[in-house]
Amino acid sequence: MRIDVLGVSFDNVTLDEAVDRGLELLELDGPHWVVTPNPEIVQRANQDPEFSEILSNADLVIPDGVGIIYAAKILGRPLKGRVPGIDFASALLERIAGTGKRLFLLGAAPGVAEQAAVNLQLAHPGLNVCGIHDGYFMEDAPVIDAIRTAKADIVFVCLGSPKQEKWIAANGDSAGARLYIGLGGALDVFAGKVRRAPEVFQKLGLEWLYRLIKEPSRIGRMVKLPLFLVSAVGAKLKGNKST
Ligand code: UDP
Repeated sequence: MRIDVLGVSFDNVTLDEAVDRGLELLELDGPHWVVTPNPEIVQRANQDPEFSEILSNADLVIPDGVGIIYAAKILGRPLKGRVPGIDFASALLERIAGTGKRLFLLGAAPGVAEQAAVNLQLAHPGLNVCGIHDGYFMEDAPVIDAIRTAKADIVFVCLGSPKQEKWIAANGDSAGARLYIGLGGALDVFAGKVRRAPEVFQKLGLEWLYRLIKEPSRIGRMVKLPLFLVSAVGAKLKGNKST
């Protein structure tokens, strides 16, 4: 069952349930896709009907970000918990390592996906990284070709949102993989270029605060978070009529 949070419907899953669903999707003919919306993405979907439709057509919609969890609670439809995209990706890789499933990494600046591939293979022995491509390309065709030629089963698409979701919707079928996952800045984290918040910040749901301290330029993006929660309160007061 999906739970609507201000116009985007989320799967009410734990991390383990999300990974099980991801593994099921990997056994089906593609393309299937997973999206990992945070409050910023929900707000964007409200302003972009095409993007909103792409999100609703995803096969798995997981709540990446504590703001989604708070908003769901305010709306009186609580979700089981936060499933950060990066944790979902890591847990999925742990399960597919050694199975022969082929992973393609798409996105980030040149050189980043290469480093991410090295680190991921160290972290998950037996992981089959079948190809990589940076995220700063002018034409889609060579990228589609690279994924198809690599016979990828699963593609991490890390182009930032909404670019990555739109790319998957437009090109997932031609590229021939079974499962696409939109993961924003995950390759920068896997490559060790961006450090994730220490566990204490993660446990307290304060990853956003750590990120803000490290990258103060994100303040413009982050002031939207309180507004998001205010919208949830507004929707609740209106009796959720529009959500
Ligand atoms: N990126 C890319 N191609 C682009 C724009 C962005 O590959 O045309 C990459 C960028 O290098 C970064 C990621 O997309 O690795 C976006 O990171 P951000 O943290 O902004 O994503 P979010 O998770 O916040 O959407």
